[in-house]
Formats: sequence, C-alpha cells, structure tokens
Amino acid sequence: MKLHLTALSLLLVYLLSCASASWAAPMEVYVSIPPQKWLSDELGGDRVITHVLVTKGRDPHTYEPTPKQISALARTKVYFTIGLEFEKQITQKLAATVANLRLVDSTHGITRIPMTEDTHETAHKDHGGHTGDDPHVWLSPVNLQIMAKEMAAALVAADPENTTIYERNLARITAELAQLHLVLQKELAPYKGAAFYVFHPSFGYFAKEYNLRQQAVEIAGKSPSPRQLSALIGMARQDKMKIIFVQPQFDTKSAQTVAQAIDGIVEPLDPLAEDVVGNLKIITEKITSALNGKEGRKN
Ligand code: ZN
Repeated sequence: MKLHLTALSLLLVYLLSCASASWAAPMEVYVSIPPQKWLSDELGGDRVITHVLVTKGRDPHTYEPTPKQISALARTKVYFTIGLEFEKQITQKLAATVANLRLVDSTHGITRIPMTEDTHETAHKDHGGHTGDDPHVWLSPVNLQIMAKEMAAALVAADPENTTIYERNLARITAELAQLHLVLQKELAPYKGAAFYVFHPSFGYFAKEYNLRQQAVEIAGKSPSPRQLSALIGMARQDKMKIIFVQPQFDTKSAQTVAQAIDGIVEPLDPLAEDVVGNLKIITEKITSALNGKEGRKN
C-alpha cells in the first residue's frame, strides 16, 4: 500500500510538470478585426488561439457583439482592441464585471491622424462614419510594427513562460514588415501626390505613409448628396481617374454612379483582409495600376 502511494505521488509530480510550459493548452485571446488576427497568430504561433469579433464579410461600423461573444470574452485572458466605435460598449461591460481579462489597446503608441474634414467632420456612428481620429491604423506596415510590439508585450505579460517564443516571432515579423515598407515605398514613389478614389476612406494611413491622396465618395459616413456627387465626378474627370475602389462590406450605389459618370468601373479593395501583408501588396498593385490607367479600364 505504501509503495502504491509513493508511485502515485511520483506520477502526480510528473503530470504536474508536464502541465507547465509548452505542455499547457494554448492561450485564448480575442481581437476586433481580421488584420489583428494575422499579427496575433504570427506572434503566438501554436501557443495562442485567436478569436475575431468582426468576422469576414461583416462591417465593423454597424457590428454589435452577440451576448455569446460577450460571455466568451469574459472567459478570455486578453482582448486586443483597435479603437473602433463598437469596442466602447464591450469594454464598458467587461471592465465592470471581469477582473482578470487584460484589455490591451493594440494601437498604443501610434500617432493618429484626423479624418479629413470633407469626409468625416459630421460623421456619427449610426451612419457608419467616424468622429475624431482616423481608426483605420492597420493599413500601414509602420503602424503594424508598433502594433506587433504592443501585442507581443501583452502576450509576454499574460504568458511569461513562453516569452522567448513571442520575442522570436516579434523579431521575425518586425523584419518582414520593415522589408514590406521599403518595397511599397519604392513602388509608390513615382506616384507622389496622386489621388486614388475610394468609397469609404479606409486608406488614410496608407496614403499618408506613401505620399498619396485618398479621395472618398462617402461623405460623413453617408452617401453623398447630388451636389457633392457631381463635384466628386468633376474631380475624378480632372484626375482622369477610371477606377473607384469599393469595399465588399458596403452598399456602394453612389460609387457606381460616379464610376458610370466618368466612364470607369468600381473595383473591390478590402481593407479588412486577414493576411494584411499580402493585402498591402494587393492594395499597392491595384492603386498603381489604377494610377497608370493600364488596367481596369472599361472595355
Ligand atoms: Zn471605417
């Protein structure tokens, strides 16, 4: 009997040691939008499972979390926010009731730019606009590096046992994003000051980073008035622009009106794709070919 107990306690010690470090279950974290999942997955490797609140095809401007998502969030260790309007109601609810959830602003340290006055001055959340600063921070490899650093630090704080893994992955993706920035800089340099036309102004940081101008069809989060529409058509004609980019999450009738009036086309460009590195390359490609006027022309 005595022998059995000793064997049992040895087994227990063995099992407990297995449960620590890399034998533990991956840590579950939440993010708001798919591009953050790319960062979290790259940083976490197999040590982190990332859940996204605004899943593919959903519009973050009109998104509301389900009660199921709220209760799942309450059981999670880390929630990486990005500064979108809907997060306020979540963080207020959670901060009051949940003690051990870490709310991490993944954009901490990013210099925000204001939304341009013609597009968002009177915007409010009911119409899918934005007030104050431009929230679309993730479409810039420079901002993504800041986000990666912030998120890695939070993963280390929540799961210090795997610090070396998170730090190694941070170094890798920081190098990848720095390299991407150099490539995009080089590719976009010839188009300095040029305007590209979009429905919703999601590309402000991208435009600023590479010295381009984003011209939005949507005004203050709403479709433009007939007067605003004709002014925009006039500008697009002057710029000889034949392509209006639209994002798949939006109803884009007014973008089509503009495209028809300039004898151009609307083309999808998704600011929310999860593979944000691949997507930044696609965005660059589509914008440069729109500015070249080589592709996408009607007929
Ligand atoms: Zn937006």
